[in-house]
Amino acid sequence: MGTEPGKFKSALKVNEGITQPAIVSGESLANFKSKRKKKLSIDEYVEGILSQNRTILSQAITLIESSLHKHQETAQQIIEKCLPYTGKSVRIGITGVPGVGKSSFIETLGMNVVSNGHKLAVLAIDPSSERSGGSIMGDKTRMEQLSAQPNAFIRPSPSAGSLGGVARKTREVIYLCEAAGFDVIFIETVGVGQSEVVVHSMVDFFLLLMLAGAGDELQGIKRGIMEMADAIAITKADGANIEKANLAKTEFQNALHLFPKGGSGWLPKALTCSAHQNQGIVAVWETIEDYLKFTKWNNHFFSNRINQSKFWMHQTIKESLLDHFYKSHSIQYKLDHVENEVLAGKVSSFEGARMLLNDYFKKI
Ligand code: GDP
Repeated sequence: MGTEPGKFKSALKVNEGITQPAIVSGESLANFKSKRKKKLSIDEYVEGILSQNRTILSQAITLIESSLHKHQETAQQIIEKCLPYTGKSVRIGITGVPGVGKSSFIETLGMNVVSNGHKLAVLAIDPSSERSGGSIMGDKTRMEQLSAQPNAFIRPSPSAGSLGGVARKTREVIYLCEAAGFDVIFIETVGVGQSEVVVHSMVDFFLLLMLAGAGDELQGIKRGIMEMADAIAITKADGANIEKANLAKTEFQNALHLFPKGGSGWLPKALTCSAHQNQGIVAVWETIEDYLKFTKWNNHFFSNRINQSKFWMHQTIKESLLDHFYKSHSIQYKLDHVENEVLAGKVSSFEGARMLLNDYFKKI
């Protein structure tokens, strides 16, 4: 459908016969524009976050997620100023295959957590959103009850960027949420690959949700993921499923005994729960509390956080270097050519890499 030449092309154009809504009336449009134009200063962002203003928190997160350089610079300054107010939350990673019941579990556990007086932020890392443009976790209406709670803040996964980039941004979002007074942070991820590893590297406690009787292979859970878990909760332990869930719990508990103990010295637990029946959910929370007590007592909690900071410093360096390399003009100009030479077997992959790197280091 084309637009006639000279006709006013705007989404605000009102067709004949349709009553004009208030928002496009002269005065409110001017107000709307001036509101939009008002840019917050760094200090205004920081004050907003520290005074627990959720709108400003969301806006600051949007800056973190933006790919624009100037937004990222602003975000970094906000994060720096918020740093003294961070670190006081409990960070919990929750993973499991699609359909295992993550949203339902988080909704039920989350309602318990906020009703105990905590402030809860739920963040997500969803690598599927990068590949498909859509998201395994995002499309359905999720956590309706929890999202209506004044003490809960739910932020879906950003849909652009590499897993590494999204993960680093999530770590930065954790800082802002902590500065905004959230003392419990859930980081949800789909158990389908690498994302668990990055989530594990930013949390204090890692919870794996499993289905009873589906078989490990079916659930796509690799042994390495099970080894990272501080607890495994068998979901949907209700109705006819209870017996199967109890059996699975015993099997997992036996399997967990065989894994080498991680640096924490904690023996991972297997539990059953039902989000629909609100059964066993409190026991999962108590397990998390036991773990925190234990690892604060043996100091693992603190040494783990320090090691995670070191890890993320190196991750950030690697990611920034890669980004700078691929965005540099000379590389963009030559990359296709050298790639084709490698594909045609004219130069080896090592030689191709060496040529590009030499060129890059000469230009910086
Ligand atoms: P996610 O994809 O891992 O986030 O899983 P959802 O929370 O969306 O749950 C997937 C399906 O399992 C939905 O149909 C839920 O109603 C169902 N489900 C989730 N938790 C339970 C539970 O505790 N008991 C039962 N019987 N079904 C559940």
